[in-house]
Amino acid sequence: MIKRLSTFCILLLTLTGCSTNSTSQSITQPTVKLYAMDCGITEISDMSDFSIEGKYQGEKLTLVYPCYLISHPKGDLIWDTGLPQSLADIPGGVKMGVYHMQVNANIEQQLAQVNKTAKDIEFLSLSHSHSDHSGNANLFAQSTFIVNALEREHMFSDNQKQADKEGFAMYSALEKAKTTTFTDQHDVFGDGTVVMKSMPGHTVGSAILMLKLAKAGPVFLTGDMYTHARARTLGTYTMYHGDQAQTKKSRQAFEALVKQQNARVIIQHEKADYDALPAFPAYLE
Ligand SMILES: [Zn+2]
Repeated sequence: MIKRLSTFCILLLTLTGCSTNSTSQSITQPTVKLYAMDCGITEISDMSDFSIEGKYQGEKLTLVYPCYLISHPKGDLIWDTGLPQSLADIPGGVKMGVYHMQVNANIEQQLAQVNKTAKDIEFLSLSHSHSDHSGNANLFAQSTFIVNALEREHMFSDNQKQADKEGFAMYSALEKAKTTTFTDQHDVFGDGTVVMKSMPGHTVGSAILMLKLAKAGPVFLTGDMYTHARARTLGTYTMYHGDQAQTKKSRQAFEALVKQQNARVIIQHEKADYDALPAFPAYLE
């Protein structure tokens, strides 16, 4: 599992701070709540893997691994499930090379704080299937799994099952889950407030989540298109992007959408973005 964890990209969420102009509030806009749960943290003693251009050699970085709960009047969505809960049972976490991974909170206990259980969650979606985003996915096998069609094909291919048995085991129960696939984008509740959009490159079917919140306005969760803030400002690429050229195209499309909608960007593994969000169980709305 450890090898697995370091092989994909290790990051996670956060949120950010491009504060946006609040959009005009409509009395008809449903109240959508964005909760950021703590699903792990990784201390990195040498960021060399995070720039194929060699920009961060010897630098330290802390990455966070949030799980997001998006609560809509018509149902709940979990977006990414973090590092596997099993890491919480290992005192001091797991050290692997320059990576020190820890899980200090329990996703089910956090859901209980807002009076929910995993079985209450109607929808599950993953920005992509790497193990730092799918670590607790099997908890939500009764939810409807919303996934880019190419990502799903990859997840359950014979090659993937053989090449990454431990990673596959983290989401294996989703293979028989009720599933909705999409190619370009998917509007979860049909009102434009919670929309997944394909942004391939990091993986074959990576996606972002675009929210329209009544008070905070447009908020975009990046998945791992960017793994930390400087990747966006400096335009660097980690060794974990499966296809750099495709990632570059997706970044260009993403930035155009950000500009068009004046969206707040949450780079999921960026600690500053995570820290800028209301501390769970408080939420952004
Ligand atoms: Zn990641």
